[in-house]
Amino acid sequence: MRFSGKVAVVTGAASGIGRATALRLAEEGATVVAGDIDEAGGRELAETSNGRIRFRRTDVTIEDDIVALIAEAAELGGPDILFNNAGAGGLRAKIDEIDAAGWDRTMDLLLRSVALGIRHAAPLMAKKGGGAIVNTASVAALASGAAPTAYSVAKAGVLHLTRLAAADLAKDRIRVNAVLPGFIATNIFSASLGLEGQARDQANALIQGVGQQAQPVARAGRPEDIAAAVCFLASDDAGFVNGTHLLVDGGLSVGPRHSW
Ligand code: NAD
Repeated sequence: MRFSGKVAVVTGAASGIGRATALRLAEEGATVVAGDIDEAGGRELAETSNGRIRFRRTDVTIEDDIVALIAEAAELGGPDILFNNAGAGGLRAKIDEIDAAGWDRTMDLLLRSVALGIRHAAPLMAKKGGGAIVNTASVAALASGAAPTAYSVAKAGVLHLTRLAAADLAKDRIRVNAVLPGFIATNIFSASLGLEGQARDQANALIQGVGQQAQPVARAGRPEDIAAAVCFLASDDAGFVNGTHLLVDGGLSVGPRHSW
């Protein structure tokens, strides 16, 4: 029960990584205020949580929605924890094919949303004497081959924003860290393959099939793998972990050992 008495805000909570993390936080004692544009998924999550998770429809590209989500956590005495996680694949184009509107939409969803989440949660956390913020970046923040250009740039932005926010907010006893998932079998992953609804099978097939690029742990990541890492970063166990990132990618970023 690491989060007993804590109030956590989770964005993108209706599905995948956000859902698994909201459930894990609640299991370990937190009250969770969950935001997402998917109302059906959000309501279903709240119903399965024995009252520990509240859902609020939230579009993280709209600042007022972020403010309202965090205000709901404040009414409950929080937020102590913020997990900035909502996302989608964004603009699928190489640098010589991008369009300005698609680029802006991708940045608003993946990067501006994280900045605004921190901006509105941090003053409340500071007043309470501290807090923990975790941002979802991606292996794509570090590598060129994992995702399209705009997405990868936005996630690299999330990674550096994490460092800057950590430096700025340490005075208020707020820690800020990022989690970098590899291939995780969720809707985003299957959508990126054009294969909605078959996430786990397709992710496993991809990982088994890509030869030299296969990750050492030869299975797709699960949302619960990321939830466990996020909960570590959000917990007092990580009290001296600040401004850094945790890769949770089955070793994808180091790749397989060659036979020599
Ligand atoms: P997912 O599609 O299962 O979950 C994403 C959630 O975000 C969905 O519930 C969706 O409705 C919500 N969302 C989308 N746009 C939103 C908006 N404007 N406002 C509020 N909510 C919105 O996918 P996931 O894999 O769980 O993605 C979670 C995060 O993990 C994303 O930031 C994604 O970029 C990141 N990520 C995923 C992988 C992977 O392989 N699955 C790898 C690296 C990073």
